[in-house]
Amino acid sequence: MKIKNLIKPNVRSLHAYSAKEIPCKIKLDANESPIGFQLKREGVMDIETNRYPDPDALKLRRLLSKRWKVSTDKILHGNGSDELIYYLIATFGGPVLCPVPTFSMYNIISAALGEKTISIPLDENFDLDMDRMLDSVKADMPKIIFISSPNNPTGNSFSDDKIVRLIESFSGIIVVDEAYQPFSDSNGLIGLISNYRNLVILRTLSKIGLASLRLGFIIADPEIVGEVNKVRLPFNVNTFSQYIAIESLRESGELRAIIKEVRKERRRLFKELSKLNDVTTFPSDANFILFKVQQPEVVYRKLLKKGVLIRNVNNSVPGCLRVTIGRKDENRFFLNSLKDVLKNEKGGASQKDK
Ligand code: PMP
Repeated sequence: MKIKNLIKPNVRSLHAYSAKEIPCKIKLDANESPIGFQLKREGVMDIETNRYPDPDALKLRRLLSKRWKVSTDKILHGNGSDELIYYLIATFGGPVLCPVPTFSMYNIISAALGEKTISIPLDENFDLDMDRMLDSVKADMPKIIFISSPNNPTGNSFSDDKIVRLIESFSGIIVVDEAYQPFSDSNGLIGLISNYRNLVILRTLSKIGLASLRLGFIIADPEIVGEVNKVRLPFNVNTFSQYIAIESLRESGELRAIIKEVRKERRRLFKELSKLNDVTTFPSDANFILFKVQQPEVVYRKLLKKGVLIRNVNNSVPGCLRVTIGRKDENRFFLNSLKDVLKNEKGGASQKDK
């Protein structure tokens, strides 16, 4: 018996999402926050370990409902936003349309669920190609569109106007994935939920210091929340994650400090990277920076040899690498290592002529 022959063809041809643990000194590959929360409470957590978690995560959803100024019935919790992407595609089906390059899980999950995916390339400025998107909406009749804004891995946000134009010209579901919104200047589109019933906002706690908890949320019309809730596995978010999320999010000062520090370091790193010869940087609203070099594979490998792990995105954005904003000392180590790598490659100076 060959197991391979038993696997559904759409799964057989898939490549698993790569989240390998690669040994390194400085980990700047996964868009995590470099700073975590200091849990202040001492002693034992107030948890009944013999009981199932609150299936509705009500305390946590109530806390978020105050923060986001939407009613609790517009919020649904997931084991990371990845799980909610799965639920959304399971609920609405395909075709699934995404501008590319973007976060790879939209396509992977869509393929795993046997749905057709349509990829529309971003334009040369990494902006939405509205003509092609609108043509595809008419011709391919997608059921669901995923837009990551700020976009991973390019780092830019798309304008509210363009997203609204898409929402208004489309009768399917538009998911705006705001995983990186906390690092941008925009408030995001949660405020539009009551205007557009086909708009779903996706948020996560993973980028703001709580990646270990695996907690994501959709914010949408209560009818959508109710339908997606039907495919949700019972008890999908465990008690410990619910508990620690509540404790952490009450520390809003700490959360603000994390975001402020990442934004400050992003400004500094962007400025320094932009000075380097043979490096092209792309402005970022997220907690990472995309940059282009002449030999991305070589630079990636040589950085790793020095203990610095970043993300090689050469396959999806030719010539490019993506570095997550780390702590000040980590960013300095990364920059010095990159300067070394580039100097050795060229045998010359690495600062741009002024
Ligand atoms: N959306 C985007 C755009 C992402 O980049 C990521 C993680 N890299 C996710 C969602 C998944 O986040 P989570 O940890 O909540 O599953």
